[in-house]
Amino acid sequence: MSPPSATISPATTPQHDPNSEDPNKPIDTPTKLPRPKLRFHINDLRHPGSNAFITLVPNLPSTVDNTLAAIIEHLYNPPRPPKHDEACTPITSKAPTPTFIPSVPATRSVTVFLRDIDGVAYTTGTELDDDHKEIHISLQYILTAMKLSNPRAEIVGVLTHELVHCYQHTAPRQSGDSVPSPPGGLIEGIADFVRLKAGFIPPHWKRPSCAKERAEKWDQGYQHTAFFLEWLEDVRIGRGAIGMLNDRLLRVGYMGEESEHGSTSFWEELFGLGIKGLWDEYGKHLDKHGKMPTDRHSGNWEDEIATPSEWLPQNA
Ligand SMILES: [Zn+2]
Repeated sequence: MSPPSATISPATTPQHDPNSEDPNKPIDTPTKLPRPKLRFHINDLRHPGSNAFITLVPNLPSTVDNTLAAIIEHLYNPPRPPKHDEACTPITSKAPTPTFIPSVPATRSVTVFLRDIDGVAYTTGTELDDDHKEIHISLQYILTAMKLSNPRAEIVGVLTHELVHCYQHTAPRQSGDSVPSPPGGLIEGIADFVRLKAGFIPPHWKRPSCAKERAEKWDQGYQHTAFFLEWLEDVRIGRGAIGMLNDRLLRVGYMGEESEHGSTSFWEELFGLGIKGLWDEYGKHLDKHGKMPTDRHSGNWEDEIATPSEWLPQNA
């Protein structure tokens, strides 16, 4: 087991040959922001949640653009090679810094629906074309959020989570059933990882301060997996780690959660250690160092109404 390090040092280096690009249409540069067609559909203008949303998010295109910038920053920003004078870089490290060529999903439109639905929100692709996404937000939930000390942060946080679903990878394109799907908890964890990084931590999230307070499983999803991914990126691996993970889901898919018959697992390929080992190290880190800052009070809200298995086929 290698010690915690701020440098990415996986067993293999997932460098990508531009000539072997997949059918996904990559965006030219890592910094170019997507510009999907935006649509806004209010299903019930007389519902008090409609007015509340418009008051909280008066400029939806601008809010979406800020969120897209956060998604690009945290999922499509390849690691930069470490400089030798950086304190966090082990002098003895000769491992090449892995990188990737960002390939942002070619999502052509995003339609935000405010509807009288149960739960919080969910995202789907449209029936005709998965490049067109729909984000459905519960009008009733908007009213629930109004009772918080910072309702705007909550609503923008929900929007951020859902927009990540419009712009994250889960499998190679056109792979059909040939590549295993990642656990729904990983997909939800990546969405909440970006939400966390964007600074929209909801009041009910509870950051674990020791191994016992971790979720039972690494792929419990939502904030539980998000805090684990945050540790991977900020402590164990280094900036760009979750971007690498997201990219690998596109290039290779979720191949081999555990090593089998001498093959290297998805996690070992990426980070040089299997998922059980990483989860273990995360627990040890928590026991040794306690929680990282920005904890909030707990709450008891429901999360999304869509289960991962419901939206996976439409978004994969
Ligand atoms: Zn979700």
